[in-house]
Amino acid sequence: MSDKRLATIAVRTGIDSDSQYHAVVPPIYLTSTYSFPAFGEVPQYDYSRSGNPTRNTLADALSELEGGAGGVVTSCGTAAMNLLVTALLGPDDLIVAPHDCYGGTYRLFNTRANKGDFKVEFVDQSDQEALAAALAKKPKLIWVETPSNPLVRVVDITVMCQQAKEVGCLVAVDNTFLSPLLQQPIALGADFVVHSTTKYLNGHSDVVGGVLISKDADIAENIAWWANCIGATGAPFDAYLTLRGLRTLAPRMRMHEENGVAVLEYLQHQAMVGTIYHPSLPSHPGHDIAKRQQKGFGSMMSFEFAGSQAQLEVFVKELKLFSLAESLGGTESLIAHPSSMTHRAMSDEAQVEAGISTSLLRLSVGLEDPLDLVADLDQAFHLAAEAH
Ligand SMILES: *Cc1c(COP(=O)(O)O)cnc(C)c1O
Repeated sequence: MSDKRLATIAVRTGIDSDSQYHAVVPPIYLTSTYSFPAFGEVPQYDYSRSGNPTRNTLADALSELEGGAGGVVTSCGTAAMNLLVTALLGPDDLIVAPHDCYGGTYRLFNTRANKGDFKVEFVDQSDQEALAAALAKKPKLIWVETPSNPLVRVVDITVMCQQAKEVGCLVAVDNTFLSPLLQQPIALGADFVVHSTTKYLNGHSDVVGGVLISKDADIAENIAWWANCIGATGAPFDAYLTLRGLRTLAPRMRMHEENGVAVLEYLQHQAMVGTIYHPSLPSHPGHDIAKRQQKGFGSMMSFEFAGSQAQLEVFVKELKLFSLAESLGGTESLIAHPSSMTHRAMSDEAQVEAGISTSLLRLSVGLEDPLDLVADLDQAFHLAAEAH
C-alpha cells in the first residue's frame, strides 16, 4: 500500500525501476520465456503466461489504485469475469447478478449456468425485496455493476456488501464505468473489483484488456494460480500500452466529466430527447447514492430518442464526431444503440426486463472540444427532425 494519492500512483507506476540502464520509463519485456540461472534454480519469472514484469507492473498499479491485495491482468474484461467464476464457483454455487448488466456479462453467466457450471439468478438489485429473496438462497457471489450499462443505474455498494456479509456471500464489483479515481469498491466493502481495461483505464481504444483485483492476499494468490492454469493472462504489449494510458487517467477523467456536463446541458433542452439517464440528474434513480459513493458522476449517459426509428437512424448517420461503435471510455466520442449492438446477445424479453428499449442511445463522451460536440449533436438533431 502506498501513501500517495491516486493521480500520483497512476503517473509514477514503474518509473525509475530499471536497475540496468536507469531508464525513467520502465522497459517492455516481450519475452515468452526466461533463462534459468542454473540447473534446478527456478528464477522469479520462468514463462510469460505465469508471470511477466510488464504485466505485473500494471497489475500492481491497478491493485494499488483499487486498494486491493493483488490483481491479475487478463486478456480482456470478460476473461477477468470468467477467471473469477471459474476460481470461485462449483456446480451447486449460486451467483446473483443484476438483470441490467453488461450484455457480455449476461451471456457469460447465463451460458455457463445453462451448462451446469454454476447457478445464476438475474435480479433488479435496486428492488430490496427481490434482492432479499435472492440473498435468502445463500449465494456464493453477488455481482454488482454500478453505474450499470447502459442505463447507468446506481446501487449502494456499502449496503449490498453488508447484506452479503450477513449470509456469508462474497461481492464483486464491475468498476469499468468510473475507474478507481471515481469509485473505490473495496473501501466500500467489496471483495473483488473487475475492470474492462479496454475502456477508461487504457483510455485510447487501442487495447482489449481486463483486470481482476482481490481484497484478500490469499485469495489473490489462488486466483493468480487459476489465471495461469486456464491461460487467462494478458499480453505484455497490451500491458505496456495500458500502463501508458493509465498515466493520464486523472486528467482524462476530469475532462471526460467536463465534456459530459456540456453534452448533458445541451440534451436537456432538446425536443427529440426523452428521458435522459445520468447519475448527476436529481431525477435519476440512485442520484443520492451516487453523490455519496462516487467521487464524480462519470461521462457515460443514455437517452431515449423521441422520434421515429427512421429519424433515429438519420440522427446517428449524420453525427460526425460521435462514431457509431461499441465500447466506451476512449479519447474519441462514441454513440451506441444498445438494443442492436452491445446488448443484442440478450433476448427481446430480457432487454424489456432490463429496460433497454429500441429508442435508447448511449453516449461515451470523449475529449474533443465540447463546443464541437454540442454543435455536432445539434446539426444531427435538425436533420433528423426534417426526416420522416
Ligand atoms: C466492456 C465491458 C466488459 C467486458 O470487457 P471486455 O474487455 O470487452 O471483455 C465488462 N463490463 C463492462 C461494464 C464493460 O463495459
